[in-house]
Amino acid sequence: MQRLTILGATGSIGQSTLAVLDGHPERFQVFALTAFTRIDELAELCTRYQPRYAVVADTSDIARLQSLLTTTTTEILAGAEALAFVASHSECDTVMAAIVGAAGLLPTLAAVQAGKRVLLANKEALVMAGSLFMQAVIEHGATLLPIDSEHNAIFQCLPCNYPQGLASVGVERILLTASGGPFREFNAEQLAVVTPAQACKHPKWVMGRKISVDSATLMNKGLELIEACWLFNAQPEQVSIVIHPQSIVHSLVQYVDGSTLAQLGNPDMRTPIANALAWPERIHAGVSALDLFQHQLDFYPPDEQKFPCLRLAREAMKKGGTAPAILNAANEVAVAAFLAENLPFIAIPQLIEAVLTQLPMSPANNLDTILTADREARIVAENWLSQYHSGFVKSSY
Ligand code: NAD
Ligand code: MG
Repeated sequence: MQRLTILGATGSIGQSTLAVLDGHPERFQVFALTAFTRIDELAELCTRYQPRYAVVADTSDIARLQSLLTTTTTEILAGAEALAFVASHSECDTVMAAIVGAAGLLPTLAAVQAGKRVLLANKEALVMAGSLFMQAVIEHGATLLPIDSEHNAIFQCLPCNYPQGLASVGVERILLTASGGPFREFNAEQLAVVTPAQACKHPKWVMGRKISVDSATLMNKGLELIEACWLFNAQPEQVSIVIHPQSIVHSLVQYVDGSTLAQLGNPDMRTPIANALAWPERIHAGVSALDLFQHQLDFYPPDEQKFPCLRLAREAMKKGGTAPAILNAANEVAVAAFLAENLPFIAIPQLIEAVLTQLPMSPANNLDTILTADREARIVAENWLSQYHSGFVKSSY
C-alpha cells in the first residue's frame, strides 16, 4: 500500500491525482491533503478520504475546517512548516508536488530530502532551484518522477540508464511539444486586447489559472525547457520546441541512429499521473485509448517574436545561477497582475525582461540566495508595475 501526501489537493492536478487513486483503492491510501484557500473543498476531500493530516495555509483557517469536518480522524495543521512536515513524514511514501508557483519549492524539497518518491508537477520548484534540487535527489536517494505531460513523455521515451548522460545513451535531441495556447493564431493587435477569461480557456487542457496564462504566453514552455534541462541533464541547445496544436504527441526523443521515439495519448493528466504513481508498472488511468483515425497531427516552429517569453526563459537558463528564479518570480507577479486586469497580456514579457535586466544574477549555491533572488525580483517587479501605471514605462512589444 502506497501512502500519499498530496500537496495542492484542491487544484487541477490534485483532483486528477485523486481521480486516479479512486480506481485503485487496494494500492494507494491518502496520508495528507493540503490546500490554500478552498477550505470547503478540502473539507469534502477530508470527509471522503479520511487522511491522517490536512494542512491549510493560515492558522485562522483551522477552526473553519474543523467545523466542517464530520470525523475526528484528521488532524489539522497550518503553514509552511506543516507542509514540509507532511511531505517528509516517515509514514508517507509518495508525495504529489502539485502546489502552483514558488510556494511549492520548500515542501517539495523537504520531500526530496526525506528520500521520498516525488511526483513533480510543480515545475517552478525546479526552475528556481534546479541545481540544488537535483543534487538533493541524488544525495538523499529520492525517486523523482515527472508529472508534466511532456516530461513524463520524454521519461517514457528514454532508456532507464539516461542519468549516465544523454550522449552516452545515444540521445541527440529532445523535442518538447507545445499546443501553442489559445492565442497561437492571434496577430499583435488581437493580442493587445486579450482578457484573462480568454487566456484561461485553453483549447486542449483544463488547468489552473496561472499555468493557463503561462501556456498562452508560452512561458509555460520556457519553464518546461528549463525543467527538461534539469530533469534530463540536457543543455538548452539539446531541447527544441515544437508547436503541435492537437496535443496528442506529448514530446519526442531523437537518437543518433535516426530513430525518433514519441509518447502519444489523449490530452488528460491522469495518464502521466498514473504512469508516475505506478512506475515501473502500468495501471488503468481512466483515460480512453487514442483513436488515431480521429486525429490529424500538425507540427510548426514557435514564433518567438510574437511570444518573447520563450526566448527570455532560454536566456535565463543559459545565464544560470539565480536568473531562472528571477524569471520565475517576475513571471508570477506579471501573471497575477494580468489575472487581476492590472496589466495587459503583451506587457507580461516586458515586465519580466525589465526585472531580469535590472537584477544582477548570482551563483545559486544555496537556498537562501535563491529565496532572496525570488523576494528581490518580486519587489522590482511590483515597482515596475507602479511605474507602468504612472506612465513611466512605454510598451516595447
Ligand atoms: P491549481 O491552481 O489548479 O492548484 C494549485 C494548488 O496549489 C491548489 O490546491 C492550491 O490550494 C495550492 N496552492 C496555491 N498557492 C498556494 C500557496 N501559496 N501555499 C500552499 N498551497 C498553495 O494549479 P494546477 O493547474 O493544479 O497546477 C499545479 C502545478 O502543476 C503547477 O506548478 C503547474 O505548473 C503544474 N502542472 C499543471 C498541469 C495541469 O494540467 N493543471 C500540467 C502540468 C504541470
Ligand atoms: Mg506541460
